[in-house]
Amino acid sequence: RAKAEGRSTFRFFTAQMQQRSALRLKLEAELRRALDRKELQLYYQPQCDMHGRLIGLEALLRWQHPELGMVSPAEFIPLAEESGLIVPIGMWVLEEAIAQMQSWRERDLRVPSVAVNLSALQFRQPLLVEQVARLLHESALPPECLELELTESVVLEDPDDALGLMERLHQLGVRLAIDDFGTGYSSLNYLRRFPVDRLKIDRSFVQDLEQGRGIAIVRAIVSLAHSLGFVTIAEGVETPEQLAQLRKLRCDQVQGFLFARPMSVPQLEAWLLRHRSVGPDGDSWTFEI
Ligand code: C2E
Ligand code: MG
Ligand code: MG
Ligand code: MG
Repeated sequence: RAKAEGRSTFRFFTAQMQQRSALRLKLEAELRRALDRKELQLYYQPQCDMHGRLIGLEALLRWQHPELGMVSPAEFIPLAEESGLIVPIGMWVLEEAIAQMQSWRERDLRVPSVAVNLSALQFRQPLLVEQVARLLHESALPPECLELELTESVVLEDPDDALGLMERLHQLGVRLAIDDFGTGYSSLNYLRRFPVDRLKIDRSFVQDLEQGRGIAIVRAIVSLAHSLGFVTIAEGVETPEQLAQLRKLRCDQVQGFLFARPMSVPQLEAWLLRHRSVGPDGDSWTFEI
C-alpha cells in the first residue's frame, strides 16, 4: 500500500512537473513573439525626495499576454534570462525608455530621470557600453537622465570585470544604482570602488522597519552609503510609519505604493498633470508626503 501510494505520489509529481515544463516552453515561445507583437510595455513608477518632489521614474516591464493577462516580470524575467531572450528584450527596454523620455521632453514634460533595470546577461554583453552610447547619441537625451540599476549579485559575479564596465558606463555620463541593496553579499571593499550614485534599500528592510532590528539595518545602510558618497532610496514604502522612520534615519529618497504605483504612460501623464507646479526654473512635480 505504501508502495502504491509512493508510486502515485511520484506519478502526481511527474505529471505536475511535465505540465510545468510544458508551460515553461509555451511561455518561452510566446515571450519570443511578444516583442514583435508589441505585448511588452513599460510602466513607470515615480520616485521622490523627502519633500515630495519627483526626482525620477523607474521603468518596469509588463507583459500583456493575450490569454493569461498581465504576467509579472518576477515570472518572466527569470525565463527570459535562462533563454537569453533578456538580451533583445533588455535592448528594447532601453530604447523604449529613452524614446519615451525624449517624447516627454519634446512635450515639455521634463521628467528628471529614468532608471532601467539591467540583468546579469545584459550587463555581460560585450557591446553593451557601445549600445548605450549609441542610443544616447541618437537621442538628444542628456546621459545623466538615464540611470542603470544593477543588483549586487550581478556586480559581484566578477567584480573586477564589473568595475571596468561600470567605469565605462559612468564615463558616458549615465548614473548607476545598486538595486535590492542588502539582499546580496556586497563586498564593502568593492563597494568603495564602484562609481555608483545610488543605493536602493531593498523592500524587505523597509517592511522590517516596524521592528528594532529593521531600524538598525536601515540605519547602517544609510550611514555606509553616505560615508561612501552615495544617495539612498528606499524601495517599497507602503505606510506613513515607514516613511516617518526613513525620514528619521536620514534616507534621502523614497519609492513605493504610498506615493504612486507603477503606471502605464497615459496613467503617468495624467498623474504628472495633477502634480505639476510651474516655477521660474521650469516645471516640477510635487505632492504631499
Ligand atoms: P525591482 O527592480 O526591485 O523593482 C521594484 C519592484 O517593486 C517592482 O516590481 C515594483 O512594482 C515593486 N514595488 C514598488 N513599490 C512597491 C510597494 O510599495 N510595495 C510592493 N509590494 N511592491 C512595490 P515589478 O514591477 O513586479 O518588478 C519585479 C522585478 O522584475 C524588478 O524588481 C526587477 O528586478 C525585474 N524587472 C522589472 N522590469 C525589468 C526590466 O526591464 N529588465 C530587467 N532585467 N528586470 C526587470
Ligand atoms: Mg529596480
Ligand atoms: Mg529593487
Ligand atoms: Mg527586486
